[in-house]
Amino acid sequence: MRKKLVVGNWKMNGSLASNALLLQGLVENPPVDAVEVAVCPPFIYLGQAASALEGCGVMLGAQNLSAFAGGAYTGEVSASMLQDLACEWVIVGHSERRAYFGESDALVIEKLRMALAAGLRPIVCVGETLEQRESGLATQVVGAQLDALTQALSAAEAVSLVVAYEPVWAIGTGRTATPEQAQEMHVFIRQRLSAGGWVGEGVRVLYGGSVTADNASLLFGKPDIDGALVGGASLVAGSFLAICAAA
Ligand code: 13P
Repeated sequence: MRKKLVVGNWKMNGSLASNALLLQGLVENPPVDAVEVAVCPPFIYLGQAASALEGCGVMLGAQNLSAFAGGAYTGEVSASMLQDLACEWVIVGHSERRAYFGESDALVIEKLRMALAAGLRPIVCVGETLEQRESGLATQVVGAQLDALTQALSAAEAVSLVVAYEPVWAIGTGRTATPEQAQEMHVFIRQRLSAGGWVGEGVRVLYGGSVTADNASLLFGKPDIDGALVGGASLVAGSFLAICAAA
């Protein structure tokens, strides 16, 4: 049985003041035990979030990590630093990092190895662009991203890993994948992971891309959608908690 997981990716949003309000909203109405919940603030606010969320059951994650363990890498943040700040999760290979910061599958793998070695649970993002989908290449693109994972890591090494299917055309656009489109891709993802030697049925696969309180329950009603990676709607406590409640 795969427990539902809802993760808020705050991206590069927030301030000490606005975070305090958002965190207070989460602490005052903590989500139920039936669903695992985590938030991923910007690095600089992890300490603030760790203090505010302590003991309330909402876990903490980061949006990225360094491929290096430590040392002279100006501007980088290591896996052990994230652990130090009480992070349990880390997002790796978000499409925005792949597109704007040149993250390749190879770099994603290096980061994954760092995360796993430090005991962090990675949420690896995969997904196709609109152009790729319209050219009929969606499964080919996602398949190649998944093959990079299964070729580099054994099923045992990746046992804590979560996959997030985030079609690029659905991110921040208000154009959510239909529950049927997402379900179809999630089934493909499991099959492809199994073909690579992993236990596809055991891997949690989240959907991300314009998830809101209004569309969450239809998405979560699909058998292969194990939760969500939520961007914009995770910035307001009420809407994020409503998504958690739908899971
Ligand atoms: P939105 O929910 O804002 O579309 O963002 C999705 C996302 O990229 C989460 O990682």
